[in-house]
Amino acid sequence: SAKKIIVVGSTNMDMVVKTSHIPVPGETVLGGSFFMNPGGKGANQAVAVARLGGEVSFISKVGNDIFGKQSSQLFEEEGISTRYLLADAGEPSGVALITVDAHGENSIVVASGANANLLPKDLEAALNEIAGAGILLMQLEIPMETVHFAAKYAASLGIKVILNPAPMNTLTPELLQHVHIITPNSKEAEMLSGIPVNSIADARKAATLIAGMGVKNVVITMGAQGALILEDGRFEEVPARPVEAVDTTAAGDVFNGALAVALSEGKTLAEAVQFACQAAAISVTRLGAQSSIPHRNELIVSNLPRL
Ligand code: ATP
Repeated sequence: SAKKIIVVGSTNMDMVVKTSHIPVPGETVLGGSFFMNPGGKGANQAVAVARLGGEVSFISKVGNDIFGKQSSQLFEEEGISTRYLLADAGEPSGVALITVDAHGENSIVVASGANANLLPKDLEAALNEIAGAGILLMQLEIPMETVHFAAKYAASLGIKVILNPAPMNTLTPELLQHVHIITPNSKEAEMLSGIPVNSIADARKAATLIAGMGVKNVVITMGAQGALILEDGRFEEVPARPVEAVDTTAAGDVFNGALAVALSEGKTLAEAVQFACQAAAISVTRLGAQSSIPHRNELIVSNLPRL
């Protein structure tokens, strides 16, 4: 049977505005529609896991405010265990200011708030929960010391650690040795490897360099070009599903959540990446972060965009 998935990460309230183009410094753009949507890479990935059929426990920190309460309620509605959703006494809930242009491209500023106060000591009460899981999924919107602590603990118990290195931060060899699969997008792969990543051929070179830093498996997401896998020294390319992109916000989050679900069900890495590309393709056809995350029953074959 499928193993439990633990997500340790951020919770934000996304404030999304649609605009003709993303303003340059000093520019004001009028006329976009606005909506709020619960987000944060941790929360998005936890919701993706739940909607795609995984059993998930989410360890995160919100403020003692209305956004925090809304998030908690929403997670419960999604069937996510909120036992380890903590409320910080001092900082407000994290927020993300997101601008989406006419082509579905986005630009994002995040104010971390309570997410910056999710510390290793907060995980102590959840160690038994982590110990009983099959997969630990993390991103980098929480303190690096917390990511490192959780990765080290999980890896020491043989739990597979998936690290989505977003937004990019300095990754030490001490952290990377605990990571089973790292999942950068092309820009993050560029920052990690130090070489430009525009094509799948570039991604192969970057993945080789990243694996050389001590991570076992590398999966680079390449937007509309799909994903590249480097598993135990062997490459595999998985094409994206051709869809009309409306809003790519959270495509990476859906990809990572889906990857965790498929792996928790015992699928191979190549099968899991195919499943993740299918789920992510559906999400880019919809506006918003969590609002765009598909449910498992949408991934039945007849509903999928054809290859
Ligand atoms: P974002 O930051 O916008 O959430 P990302 O930059 O983290 O996304 P991408 O590499 O852009 O990640 O996308 C993740 C996955 O989503 C891709 O590997 C692909 O499977 C799917 N995807 C993204 N964009 C498209 C697209 N235009 N058409 C089809 N699939 C897409």
